[in-house]
Amino acid sequence: MAGEFIRVTGVVQGVGFRPNVWRLAHECGLRGRVWNDAEGVLIHAWGRRQALDVFVQRLRDEPPPLANIEDIIRTLLDAPADLPEDFRIVESREGKPHTGVAADAATCPECLAEVLDPANRRYRYPFTNCTHCGPRLSIVRAIPYDRANTSMAAFSMCAQCQAEYDNPADRRFHAQPNACPECGPQIWLEDNYGHRLPEGDVIEATADLIHAGNIVAIKGIGGIHLACDAANAEAVDTLRRRKHRYHKALALMARDIDMIKCFAEVNDAEAALLNDRAAPVVVLDARGERLAPAVAPGQNSLGFMLPYTPLHHLLMQAMNRPIVLTSGNRSDEPQSIDNQDAQQRLKQIADYYLLHDRDIVNRLDDSVLRVIDARPRFLRRARGYAPRSIRLPDGFATSTNILAMGGELKNTFCLLQDGRAILSQHIGDLEDAATYRDYQHNLQLYRQLFGFTPALIVIDRHPDYLSTQWGRTMAAEEGVQLIEVQHHHAHIAACMVEQGLPLDTDKVLGVALDGLGFGEDGSLWGGEFLLADYRGFQRLAHFQPVPMPGGAQAIREPWRNTFAYLLNSPVWERVAEGYPELDIVRFLKTKPLGVLQTMVSKDLNSPPASSAGRLFDAVAAALGICRECADFEGQAAIELEALAAVHFETQADFAYGFEGQDDSLSWTPLWSALLKDLADEVAPGIIAARFHHGLASAVAETAGRLCAQHELQTVVLSGGVFQNRLLLARTSFLLRDQGLSVLSPVATPANDGGLSLGQAVVALASC
Ligand SMILES: [Zn+2]
Ligand SMILES: [Zn+2]
Repeated sequence: MAGEFIRVTGVVQGVGFRPNVWRLAHECGLRGRVWNDAEGVLIHAWGRRQALDVFVQRLRDEPPPLANIEDIIRTLLDAPADLPEDFRIVESREGKPHTGVAADAATCPECLAEVLDPANRRYRYPFTNCTHCGPRLSIVRAIPYDRANTSMAAFSMCAQCQAEYDNPADRRFHAQPNACPECGPQIWLEDNYGHRLPEGDVIEATADLIHAGNIVAIKGIGGIHLACDAANAEAVDTLRRRKHRYHKALALMARDIDMIKCFAEVNDAEAALLNDRAAPVVVLDARGERLAPAVAPGQNSLGFMLPYTPLHHLLMQAMNRPIVLTSGNRSDEPQSIDNQDAQQRLKQIADYYLLHDRDIVNRLDDSVLRVIDARPRFLRRARGYAPRSIRLPDGFATSTNILAMGGELKNTFCLLQDGRAILSQHIGDLEDAATYRDYQHNLQLYRQLFGFTPALIVIDRHPDYLSTQWGRTMAAEEGVQLIEVQHHHAHIAACMVEQGLPLDTDKVLGVALDGLGFGEDGSLWGGEFLLADYRGFQRLAHFQPVPMPGGAQAIREPWRNTFAYLLNSPVWERVAEGYPELDIVRFLKTKPLGVLQTMVSKDLNSPPASSAGRLFDAVAAALGICRECADFEGQAAIELEALAAVHFETQADFAYGFEGQDDSLSWTPLWSALLKDLADEVAPGIIAARFHHGLASAVAETAGRLCAQHELQTVVLSGGVFQNRLLLARTSFLLRDQGLSVLSPVATPANDGGLSLGQAVVALASC
């Protein structure tokens, strides 16, 4: 008889891993024991040599759904004097925990079948879950991850639930949120005055209220949503008005894929993503029947998700069309997670509330993905994905714990520990005070969950970012070293590391296109060509800087960027004379142009920016998109992309030009051609398509030239502007066509949501 000591690492706790080991050991006829410790799961197993091999192979091949095995390490053991009689799960040993907690997961098929089975004791019970599904990060307060440290502590299990919990052969063995109608959380429906609606099926009643045009706040896994009938134009308009959110697309939930297909195109990759246990919102091309126009104004896409809790499943079965399911908040605030807070903050928005008595401890927004250039890409990484770790490539194994604070907008933070990066869920825009508090709460939580103390703190170079300021304060208070990392270097490094480039990689050409980031020279960057590795970078080329008259005001009022571009290229006076009839020219003439011109010429509150985002704003405003004001950063670019999509295929030969002068890309030729097209009354969609082609060609041509000059093989594309589907796909195509290898982010968002990962690895590389 042979004995082995088997160590399993990865996400292997709180996911039904030990019962799975127990089952496989029994099936392979092994004796021994299994337990959790600080590093993961440990197994002592005795049996025939061949049986042990089969056992380990099956461990690898048949993990429980939520597990994520990183390593299985086998060591031979001498058989002890008292060989165990059987195979057992034994109590966990003490130790500093490192394994954290799993991500929240959509209801599994077994649990759903129980919820829909009238003979089952969990029939129509909205909180049904098991070790394969249900809430995780959203309910955890501390580690170790057991019931007492979650918001399920308030509910004591009934005898039947306890028996399931204690039985290694049961799907609910050690399922911490295990519950049933007898002992678990309850839901209720109340009106806007806090009066509970009479008994009865509250989920059916909620569906009726939504059908009748009401807005209902619904408490979910990671937050409280606002729901309304997505086909009811008046309801959707009312929701937008009350939420003060006028343009950002609203997420939708549909009963099943067939229902989604009535409104949008769903290919195989998108269907797989919708069905993923993370159940993200997937952005799809709109097609077929129409929903209310205000669901996604100015866009030809729709963001759909499928039900991910039993409550959602039951609700959607009672609905015959999709619902809007958007975060429960007013415009820029964080989503509400608490019953009382929701009753106050959503009072002016929701007509009714479908609430429950299980606390949401940690806010987790819905994740958003889109399939671009044949691969799913994150627009927002949160529920269902956080806090899954990203394994770092060769060279990054280190004992230095690094905390990276992230950026300002779409903030996430990142912990680097034991060769793994743990990226937080999307936190949001830190300018909002409540979001900033949430950021601090989550930082403390993650430190606790992962037993993490930073040896090094990393911040962006922007002195005004709140993340930068708090990072500085923390470093001073804790006596920890502080490192600043340049914004666009962090964007490129994040993509490099998630794509597996080792620490000692050859240099790459990083192309970072985004809104604004603080440059090495103190000016604002955002259209950058960097010769980079993890340790450093050299700015080889960039978009020609253009002033932003009014500073931050130029972000909110895109026409200011149009004027700034037209001041020099070709020259505003000539444009005004040459095209007096153009809509954009007439519009600009109503503005105090003299004042702006003076501001720019005297360099007053007109910071120059080499930003791709501002170029998008300028072109969009010239076409009449978001001309007066943009509701949120990136709105003009999103609408411009939507406009271009229809004509994109036919316009490749009509790409607008650019001028490469040494290290600077000037857009003068683009503006000359664009103005002429406007004067010739070329359709705005065609102009938008030519602009996208022009930008892709300019980037690919410049990148190709720089790669040849510096003997580079790999181009890395990142930054928020590369969330643009047309631009990313076309630029990648043109670069591959030149024989270059192209990397772009997949495991993290290309926008500032991925920044903290890049900051962390750059800091580690420079240690
Ligand atoms: Zn389940
Ligand atoms: Zn029970």
